[in-house]
Amino acid sequence: MQQDKEMRLRFPPSPTGKIHVGNIRTALFNWLWARKQGGKLILRIEDTDTERSTREFEEIIFKELNWLGMDVDEGPNMGGDYGPYRQSERLEIYQEQLERLLREGKAYRCYCSKEELDEMRRQQKEAGEIPHYDGRCRDLAPADASEDTDYVLRFKMPETPEEIVVRDLIRGEVSFSSEDFDDFVIQKSDGMPTYNFAVVVDDALMEISQVIRGEDHLSNTPKQVKIYQALGFPVPDFAHLPLILDEERAKLKKRSDEQAVYLGEFREQGYLPEALFNFLALLGWSPEDEQEVMSREELVEKFDISRVNKSAAVFDREKLNWMNNLYLKEADLDRLLELSLPHLKKACFLEGTGWLKEAGRLNDRGEPDRDWLKEVIDLGREGISYLAELPAEVELFFSEPEQEDPAAAAEDFQDPEVREVFHKLQVELTELAAQADYSEEKINQVFQQVRQETGVGGRKFYHPLRLALTGRGSGPDLVKFAWLLGQQETCRRLELALKQKA
Ligand code: GLU
Repeated sequence: MQQDKEMRLRFPPSPTGKIHVGNIRTALFNWLWARKQGGKLILRIEDTDTERSTREFEEIIFKELNWLGMDVDEGPNMGGDYGPYRQSERLEIYQEQLERLLREGKAYRCYCSKEELDEMRRQQKEAGEIPHYDGRCRDLAPADASEDTDYVLRFKMPETPEEIVVRDLIRGEVSFSSEDFDDFVIQKSDGMPTYNFAVVVDDALMEISQVIRGEDHLSNTPKQVKIYQALGFPVPDFAHLPLILDEERAKLKKRSDEQAVYLGEFREQGYLPEALFNFLALLGWSPEDEQEVMSREELVEKFDISRVNKSAAVFDREKLNWMNNLYLKEADLDRLLELSLPHLKKACFLEGTGWLKEAGRLNDRGEPDRDWLKEVIDLGREGISYLAELPAEVELFFSEPEQEDPAAAAEDFQDPEVREVFHKLQVELTELAAQADYSEEKINQVFQQVRQETGVGGRKFYHPLRLALTGRGSGPDLVKFAWLLGQQETCRRLELALKQKA
């Protein structure tokens, strides 16, 4: 078979669980490299593990790829010339290839029972050997066994030791010795092909030119190379991506409920797809110019598989948070509003509080007005890493100010100069509202004017004011905050502070 000139890459997940970010990073590198080379990306569902594979998990895969904007060119949903694209629908294809190997004497039936295999391994361990299949069924004549006995098919590894070379686009040539592999199973007793066999048949028949996958599969590759050779198929190029470690340099896996590792969890916490896309692209790769924040188009343009690192990549959550904050600050506010609503709902912020009603900030359904909410989100997004943090950030708008240190606040509010500032602010802000002039610009002018008139400046002016309006020592820009609170609520909060007893 002639290898096609066209670059054909594939992403073959097993639909046996939620999709891990590590897997998505593999999909992403395939996507980037396929797009960069103007090639094709094929989605294949590896569902030969019939007990653990489900259509629901398959749907999750489609949904996640779609969410990240990774389109594929061929796959179970859209078809293509090389289908079917689900392994469970390709069983006849594997059967044909298995029979071919059997006929050509490159594979054989093994009738060993589990007990026999266990005993073999036990003895090997005892003798200080690495457990392996010793080939005892290799030369059985077909007549030696009856058809109805359970059997598996095993692949014949070379009898004379040889070097097996894997051409890897990231690691160069990696050699293995055939002696380190035994005659492995290629068809299980239930008739299902094993991963190592099915993956070769599919990659070969789908004319995959480059196999990009996780480093955990490097040790399978020599076996696969031998199968390609036995079937007379051209061997593709491989690229094994470095492992992803967590901050403790352990394999990135689920350790606690709070620590997201599945893509869906990141989405639910309010990470933006473009931020994750950018972040995942940097897990094991960086462009020559060391730029970090890149659009999808820039990533496609700069991506180069040969620049991928050999050493493990660290999943740095702080960096992800930093990056997501950048993307949140750039995101369209209407979109952000939609994405924020579930989080605000969860925090029960959407049933209008009393002051929102007074201030005319509620819509007909008694919920906060959308334009107002957008302004609140605009202010809140500055200080958050992901949207689940938004409610805590904007809580100030929905609840009464609660002093972090009531005694210290009360003392501030008793200060005659502070009281004069608060009184004057109340008068001036009320005046603004009366003239329908309550804007950010005018509020700022009032602040400056009161500072001048009272001679109270700097921290002495702003700190008690912030405490009165928000109950906290630090937080959002006060002019904007007072504007969003509206005149009535701002004055009411000043009044509350003035009335607070020491
Ligand atoms: N289904 C395999 C996995 O998800 C595919 C491995 C490969 O890319 O060959 O690990």
